[in-house]
Amino acid sequence: MTTLIPLPLTQFVVKMHSRCDLACDHCYVYEHADSSWRSRPKVIADGIMAKAAERIGEHAAAHRLPAVRVVLHGGEPLLAGPDRLRRAAGTLRAALPPGCALDLRIHTNGVLLSRDFCSLFAEQDIKVGISLDGDRAANDRHRRFADGRSSHPQVLRAVALLNEPEYRHLFAGLLCTMDVENDPVAVYRALAELRPPAVDFLLPHATWDEPPKRPAALGATPYADWLLTVHGLWEADGRPFAVRTFESVHRTLRGFSSLTESLGLEPSDLAVLETDGTFEQADSLKTAYDGAPVTGMNVFAHSLDDLARHPGIAARQSGLPGLSEACRACSVVRSCGGGLYAHRYRSDDGGGSFDHPSVYCGDLMTFINGIAGNGSSTGVPVQATEAPRPGAEPLPPGALTPSQLDPSQLDELARGYGSAETVAALGRSQLALTRAMLAAAWDASGQGRAEAWALLAELDAAAPAAVDTVLAHPYARAWAARRLAGDLPVGLGPLAALAAAAAVRAGRGDAVPVPVRGGWLHLPTLGRIAVPDGEAVVTGRAHGFEVRASDGTVRTVLDEPLRRVRLAGGWTVALEDADPLRDCHDHPVAERLTEGELLDWTGALREAWELLGRDLPGYAEGIRAGLATVTPLRPGPTGRDVSSAARQAYGAVGIARPATAPTLALLLAHEFQHVKLGAVLDLTDLYDRADTTLYLAPWRPDPRPLEGLLQGTYAHLAVTEYWGTRTRAYDGLPGEAADRAREQFALWRRYTAEAVERLASSGALTGTGSRFADGMRATVAPWLALPLPAAAEQAADRARRERAGI
Ligand code: SF4
Repeated sequence: MTTLIPLPLTQFVVKMHSRCDLACDHCYVYEHADSSWRSRPKVIADGIMAKAAERIGEHAAAHRLPAVRVVLHGGEPLLAGPDRLRRAAGTLRAALPPGCALDLRIHTNGVLLSRDFCSLFAEQDIKVGISLDGDRAANDRHRRFADGRSSHPQVLRAVALLNEPEYRHLFAGLLCTMDVENDPVAVYRALAELRPPAVDFLLPHATWDEPPKRPAALGATPYADWLLTVHGLWEADGRPFAVRTFESVHRTLRGFSSLTESLGLEPSDLAVLETDGTFEQADSLKTAYDGAPVTGMNVFAHSLDDLARHPGIAARQSGLPGLSEACRACSVVRSCGGGLYAHRYRSDDGGGSFDHPSVYCGDLMTFINGIAGNGSSTGVPVQATEAPRPGAEPLPPGALTPSQLDPSQLDELARGYGSAETVAALGRSQLALTRAMLAAAWDASGQGRAEAWALLAELDAAAPAAVDTVLAHPYARAWAARRLAGDLPVGLGPLAALAAAAAVRAGRGDAVPVPVRGGWLHLPTLGRIAVPDGEAVVTGRAHGFEVRASDGTVRTVLDEPLRRVRLAGGWTVALEDADPLRDCHDHPVAERLTEGELLDWTGALREAWELLGRDLPGYAEGIRAGLATVTPLRPGPTGRDVSSAARQAYGAVGIARPATAPTLALLLAHEFQHVKLGAVLDLTDLYDRADTTLYLAPWRPDPRPLEGLLQGTYAHLAVTEYWGTRTRAYDGLPGEAADRAREQFALWRRYTAEAVERLASSGALTGTGSRFADGMRATVAPWLALPLPAAAEQAADRARRERAGI
């Protein structure tokens, strides 16, 4: 796929301490072929850390990364001590450019984890992953101190600390290295008891030279059998926590991206920094041969772009063409991806190479087929057949991935809210998705309008703010989505128009031809000009633009500029009534607003914004951070309010002008919930997309797919809170408005609570989805306890019966 930007590195493992306080016999650092740890400094020096932070910061700025992940690692990173860890976190954070989020983690064996460390991690927002192989027997098999003592009690104490309410948000999950001689049921139960937010099950590192153990009694594919047993328990429990190994197979079987480097075809974007400042490739390569991860580069002499061009890293970014012939021909390759790169190595092929299937090939095939429902270790492998939906195209490197949306931000969104920072993170992920979809749509088009594409790519480097502004326009993605869905009549004109708008914003004198249809040349984010059909040439100037129409006339002024409404607090929202691609809401759009209608909308929006700040303060901040556009819709049937968000137009809500400003406030809040949830669903699976069951939402007569129920529930969190706030404001006062607020609150709190339980009991939520439902429940529960007058409850009963047709 063509991308506007080169593949950057976004994940960095930084070795804080090169020694460990345990002596696990399956550790790839100390117990495998590579012995480079012997010659390295024990602790990373502050100067090396500062240079590493500078390199990451410059890389993030050059590639305009919305987020980077840094994992503080070892050896055992806690041995570096709290002061050095605090300095490292501060140095990293200070080095990142504005707009680039830091997802900072530490991966530890947990032995030294103390309350002091947890306080430091809370202060520095460092998420904690713990290695634990299961119950005591399983963990003791490998994870012992050098003198043979068990480390299990210390690890359980560490997990208990992370489960305390004040630290729970720091708990990133558990990493369990499998051993087929451990009882998978006991391992699963022991881990599940600890209520982790996520568990990674890792295959022990091995190569064709050093194959994994396969006890004869356990059959031909013991690793697959072990994993499938755990998978069955996890499914039976309703997927109580995230498991990337399982979710990656579920996703790739349906054509989505993998979530882990060890499966699937996604390019690797990971680099490792050792304590001496040398860059290495993935740590797992230590298992292949002595020196396998070496790059010959170091943080002082080489940039991360230099590192990204290293042949070893490029090899892990090359997808299907980079795999062995056997893998390329394999029908589960989209899910498997040849397994982890390190596991492909063999030395007896005339020089040693990774050009082989994984040493776990049979297990991987059986495991993937087992999850797909084929269930046979020798049966015909399944082929992923369902094409990815355009709205869920794999994100390119540099975009936010599910794990890069901070778990606490996901929890915050689950409660219904979303701070400015959290909504901005969603916006960045959507911008990255738009870029990827535009590139895919252009590729699929046969690369027509090449001059427009080339200009867009050039401006992306020379005037990135201009390109970002245009691509963040909600309907930029709508074009790509329509093309990818096979709507070819939409043509390539909108792509040229995006390039033209970026050229006008950049003002460098670039010219781009744009096809004109229907007598209007539309420049996204700017407005439109009436010119004859044909091809107009748009030239961006330092202080304006010039449009040369097909009849030779030259125009320098927009006939109908995009109109923006300035709201209290100094922010603006666009009233989009000209973009030809805005017609993607579930209701016809209104024509260009008259001056009178514009005045009416302006007043209503200003009043509605004031009401949102007063009645829904927990939502208003996010709305301000993410609402870019209100698209006027045509009025609905008499007396019916009409509003609609569009999944392919992040940041826009469509609304037919309602009778009152409070109704407009309510519709804005309701629709922006859909906008937020759509962005969350692009980042992470909250439910099994293969689920075909229809579910009744309590407020609708027609059953809907699970996403419909989820969307409705999420939107009604805001609606219920609005009525709750109004109820409290009236606080026992008499009057029609007060009675209506109490009745609506009584009605919607019940509806929303019922809907949350229907979702939770659907059996179709993923582990993350269940956690999301828990968040919604936590918001609804206190509302149910609020006393309301009997008359309000009775009115709510009547309304429910009427809606149900009883
Ligand atoms: S199952 Fe085996 S042959 Fe197929 S992609 Fe995986 S490693 Fe390659």
